[in-house]
Amino acid sequence: MSASYRAATRAALFYLVFCVVWLQLSGYLLNSFFDDSVEASRWQLINGYAWLLFSAGFVFFARARLMRCLGVAAKQRVNPQDRERLRQAAAVFDCTREGVLVTDREGLIVHVNPAFMHITGYQREEVLGKRPNLFKSGRHSADFYQAMFATLESESEWSGEIWNRRKSGEIYPQWQTIRVIHDDLGQRSHYVAVFSDISAIKHSEQERMHLAHYDPLTDLPNRLLFTDRAKQALTSAQLHKRGCALLLIDLDHFKMINDSLGHTIGDQLLKAVAERLKAMFEPGITLARLGGDEFAVLAENCPQVEQAAALARRIIDGLKQAFPIDGHQLFINTSIGISLFPADALSAEQLLRNADSALFKAKSAGRNDYALYTEELTAHAQQRVETSFELRHALDQEQLRVYYQPVHDLRTSRLIGLEALVRWEHPQRGLVSPAEFIPIAERTGLIAEIDAWVMQQACRQMCQWQKAGRGLAFVAVNISSRLFARRELYEQVARVLHETGLDPACLELEVTESAVMEDPEVALEQMYRLRELGVQLAIDDFGTGYSSLLRLKRLPVQKLKIDQGFVAGLPWDEDDAAIVRVIIALAQSMGMQVHAEGIEQAEQAAFLLEHGSQLGQGYWFGRPVPAEQLVWAPQHL
Ligand code: C2E
Ligand code: MG
Ligand code: MG
Repeated sequence: MSASYRAATRAALFYLVFCVVWLQLSGYLLNSFFDDSVEASRWQLINGYAWLLFSAGFVFFARARLMRCLGVAAKQRVNPQDRERLRQAAAVFDCTREGVLVTDREGLIVHVNPAFMHITGYQREEVLGKRPNLFKSGRHSADFYQAMFATLESESEWSGEIWNRRKSGEIYPQWQTIRVIHDDLGQRSHYVAVFSDISAIKHSEQERMHLAHYDPLTDLPNRLLFTDRAKQALTSAQLHKRGCALLLIDLDHFKMINDSLGHTIGDQLLKAVAERLKAMFEPGITLARLGGDEFAVLAENCPQVEQAAALARRIIDGLKQAFPIDGHQLFINTSIGISLFPADALSAEQLLRNADSALFKAKSAGRNDYALYTEELTAHAQQRVETSFELRHALDQEQLRVYYQPVHDLRTSRLIGLEALVRWEHPQRGLVSPAEFIPIAERTGLIAEIDAWVMQQACRQMCQWQKAGRGLAFVAVNISSRLFARRELYEQVARVLHETGLDPACLELEVTESAVMEDPEVALEQMYRLRELGVQLAIDDFGTGYSSLLRLKRLPVQKLKIDQGFVAGLPWDEDDAAIVRVIIALAQSMGMQVHAEGIEQAEQAAFLLEHGSQLGQGYWFGRPVPAEQLVWAPQHL
C-alpha cells in the first residue's frame, strides 16, 4: 500500500468521525434553538438558521475534501492485474542490463536502477539529488549538449551515442535514450534516461576492422591494407618527388614444408619469417603478408634501383639463416620481384602487377634471387649490390691500393706533387676503377673509411719521400662529397696529420666542384675549419659544377683543377680552348693556382703553359702507379 493511499484513508476516516461529531453537536444545538416547549425568541431563531447555513457550508466543504481524498486513493487503487504489471515493471527496472536514471523536472536525480550502479560504478546515495552532468566525459562540445536538449524540447525524446565517465574516471561510450515524462496536467514532471554500455561493441568493431585489415596468423597488414598504404605512399611520393620500391617476397618450395611437416609447422614458419622480416626493417618500410607464403614490402624512400636491390639481397640473406621450429632446423630460400615507382609504374595496382611479373622472372631464373621488373636493370643492379657486399670486406682483407699520379710544374717540368688515387685489387676481377666503386662506397657509407685509409697511406708515404729528399711540394687526396659535408672530416684529417707527423702544408685536399656547390654554406664552414689545420684546398673537376662566381670568391681555396673534359679538346677545339682560357683568367684574378688534369699530349701541356696554367697532370706525364713504380725524372715539353 502506497503512502498517498494510506494518507487518503486516514483523511477520510478523520472527516467521517468529524462529521459524526459535528452532526451530534448540531442536533443538540438545533434542538435547543427550535425547542417547541420553550417559546423561541427571535434571536434564537436567527442563531439556529445561521448554524444550519454554516453547517451546510461546512458539510459541503468537508464532502468535497473527502471526495478528493477518496478520488486520489481511488486512482491509486489498482486492480490485481495492474499490480501484477507494476511488479513486472519493477522487476524489469531492477533486472535490466540497461542503466536507468530518472530526474525530476529540475534535472536532479531521483532514481537509478542497479544496472546504472553497475555501469557507472556509483552507488545510489552518491548520485541522488545530483545532476547528470556528474558523468560528463568532456569528450563532447557544448554544441552537442545544446542539440540534445533542443531535440528533447521539440520531440520529448533523444537517442544517440554519448561518452560518459565512470566513477573510476574511465571514459566509455553508451547508447542512450532520454524521454520527457509529463503529468496528468501535461506538465513536464520527470526525465528518464535509459542507456547501455557499448564499449564492448566498440571494441569488437575495432576487432572486426583489425581482422579485415590484418592477417590473423602473422598480424601483418593484409593485401587490402597494403594496397591502401601503397596508394597513400605513392601520392606522397609524387608530391615530394621521391622514388618508392615494391618488393614481392615468395618463399621457395614452402609447399614442401607444408606437405612434409604439416600445416602447423608451416604456420609457425610463416610466423617466424614475419617476425624476422619485421625486425629487419626500419620505419618507412611497410611489410605485409599478401597470402600463403607471399609477403610484400614497400620502401617509401628508395630512389635508386641499387637501394631496392640491396634491400632484396638483405632480405634473401636474412631469411637464409635457419629457423628453429619445433625441434627442426628449417632452411628456406627466397625469391623476390621488384618494381619501382615511378620508373616502372605509377599506380599501386600496376606496381604490384609488375612486381609479380618480376617475381615470376626470379623464380623462372632458378629462384633464391631477386629480379627487377625492368630486365636490363637487373644485371646492372645485381653487380652493384654484389660489389657493395664485397667492398665491405675489401678494406679488412687489404685489397685496396693507393696509386700515385705525378703532377708537374709546367714551367720547369719538374715533378712537384702527386695525387693519391685509390684502386681495388679484386681477387677475381683484377684492378677495379674507383669510378666504379667510389659511388657505391658513398651510398653504403663506407667512403669515410676508404678516404681515411687513403689519406693515412698518402701522408705516411709523403713522409717517406720527404725523408728520401724527393723535394715534393704536396700530396693530394680526394675527399668524397659525402664525407665533405660531415663534421667528422675535420677530426679525421687532424688525426691523420697527428699520427703521421706530416707538415699540414704538404697535404692537399681535393673536393669536387659539385660537392662544394651542393651546400655552399656548409662547404664554406668546413673549408675554413680545414684551413685552420694548415692544409691546402683544391677544387677538383672545375668547370663541371656550375659554380657561382660570388661563392667561389669567398672560398678559402688555393687551387682550381681544370676538368680533363676541357683539356681533352685542346688546343684545337675552340670552345674548350675558350673555357680553359676563362678558367685560368678567373683563377688568376682570385689569386688561385691553376692545375690542369688529363694532359695526354705535349700540345695540350704547351697550350696550358702558354695561357698561364702552372701545374699539369695526365698520362703524358705519367699514369697513376704504385709508389715504388714512380719515375722521378722531369718531363720536358
Ligand atoms: P679525379 O680526382 O679527377 O682523378 C683523376 C682521374 O683521371 C683519375 O682516374 C686518373 O687516373 C684519371 N686521369 C689522369 N690522367 C689522365 C689522362 O691523361 N687521361 C685520362 N683519360 N684520365 C686521366 P681514377 O683514378 O680512375 O679516379 C677517378 C675518380 O675517382 C677521381 O677523379 C676521383 O674523383 C675518384 N677517386 C679516386 N681515388 C679516390 C679516393 O681515394 N677517394 C675518393 N673520394 N675519390 C677518389
Ligand atoms: Mg682528384
Ligand atoms: Mg679530377
